[in-house]
Amino acid sequence: MVRPIFIGGEWRQGRGPISVSRFPADGSVNAELSTASREDVEEAVQAAERAWRAPSWRQALPHQRAAILYKVADLIEARLEQLAALQTRDNGKPLAETRGLVASAAGTARYFAAACETLDEQLTSQRAADFMTLSVHEPIGVVAAITPWNSPIASEMQKIAPALAGGNAVLLKPADATPLAALELARLFEEAGLPKGLLSILPGRGSVVGDALVRHPLVRKISFTGGTNTGRSLAHIAADKLIPTSLELGGKSPTIVLEDADIELAAKGVVYGIFSSAGQACIAGSRLFVHGAVYERFMERLLTLTRELRVGHPEQDGTHMGPLISEAHLQSVADYVALAREEGGEVLCGGERLSEGTLANGSFYPPTIITGLNNGARVCQEEIFGPVLVVIRFEDEADLLGQANDSIFGLAAGIWSEDFRRAWRLARRLECGTVWINTYKKFSVSAPFGGYKESGLGREKGREGVLAYMQQKSIYVGLSDTPNPWCC
Ligand code: NAP
Repeated sequence: MVRPIFIGGEWRQGRGPISVSRFPADGSVNAELSTASREDVEEAVQAAERAWRAPSWRQALPHQRAAILYKVADLIEARLEQLAALQTRDNGKPLAETRGLVASAAGTARYFAAACETLDEQLTSQRAADFMTLSVHEPIGVVAAITPWNSPIASEMQKIAPALAGGNAVLLKPADATPLAALELARLFEEAGLPKGLLSILPGRGSVVGDALVRHPLVRKISFTGGTNTGRSLAHIAADKLIPTSLELGGKSPTIVLEDADIELAAKGVVYGIFSSAGQACIAGSRLFVHGAVYERFMERLLTLTRELRVGHPEQDGTHMGPLISEAHLQSVADYVALAREEGGEVLCGGERLSEGTLANGSFYPPTIITGLNNGARVCQEEIFGPVLVVIRFEDEADLLGQANDSIFGLAAGIWSEDFRRAWRLARRLECGTVWINTYKKFSVSAPFGGYKESGLGREKGREGVLAYMQQKSIYVGLSDTPNPWCC
């Protein structure tokens, strides 16, 4: 059966080509589903425009909008196992990870419910006594949200929740490879009582559905997570339309092990930072800088821990790394490793696809560590988005900072050191949106997230996250009997 999609509050067959969701661990079919056509996008946008302007939504009190998000959070938690299993089938991440992603989606819904309920408007400062000014926030209107395949349910809720909390309507285009979680989320929003038309889920190709969405004149904000090149092309479209965009883009994040680091903690943190999610994370710590004084000791521990990682079936307990999302992506990762070899790199572990036993049926690639290159090599400059770590030895802090910041990206960084003041100083000089000290990949919904340089524009999460989906208006109220000079 070809599954329907959620267009303007109705479950029906989209008029685009049929898409097949496959389990990356063995290529088996999860579902066949319809996708949206340009006509479906048009209908969804018109429904969204009517829905956000309807008095029932425009005049809904913040706690009424929040109530829907709280209910969705409860529904997500009640179905955590089912949603995690679905997400694992769709993108191949181990269950332990997808459970975390589902839990974070519930937390995000709750956080933005609270942010919306507690958003204060301001009485702005006034110099004259005969009027007062207020600054209020209002919805933007119809929001196009576009997401990648690596952490769907979490990144989708990071857009849907603040957009709805801000009083908007949202049209979400999930990645073509991973549409299932978004469709389930739509069912939960429906069950929670979200008025029709405020949310549509429009699976399909970015070049068709995504393009039609962002170019539509009634779409007044683009919220995008994905690759830097796609983000740049969407920014051009937004510039022509003069509409705001939030762009969460790629990364090539440096992790730094200083000579005073706790070697055991640092090695474990580095392994997790690059190899969890099989390296398919924007924030993956994919460039590692290790101080010469601890280089040998650290590398020995790093290699031991890496060799102990279990690559395997994502539905099996104890699996650390599942398959890559697709054969095409595996080929791109393998091409980068071949390039590293050509550039003179030495592959210390991994470096060949895994094809023993049942692994032969999926796109499994082992954790791979490369040394012998400098930061100018292409594999140190380009995002591989796979389980590939490049290690560079350094001796001097100034040189380290120059290399760590020598990247078009600026998403995240990690520092391992027992000297907190030194780590703090370094953190302030790293050109990126997030720095982890003695930890990595920890997330809090209350901490704003986003990139410097070509890693993005704007911030998601944090209390201000809801304001990214609102526009500000100043209102002047006259208090004088002669409000203007000519009225006396
Ligand atoms: P991508 O190719 O840029 O695709 C992202 C989304 O954009 C997909 O839904 C895609 O549709 C859609 N798209 C593609 N072309 C489009 C167009 N012309 N108009 C509108 N939409 C279009 O990225 P990806 O390969 O899926 O994801 C990996 C990238 O995402 C990496 O660079 C990673 O670093 C980045 N990422 C960033 C963050 C962050 O928070 N900074 C988080 C996660 C991932 P299709 O499915 O048809 O391709």
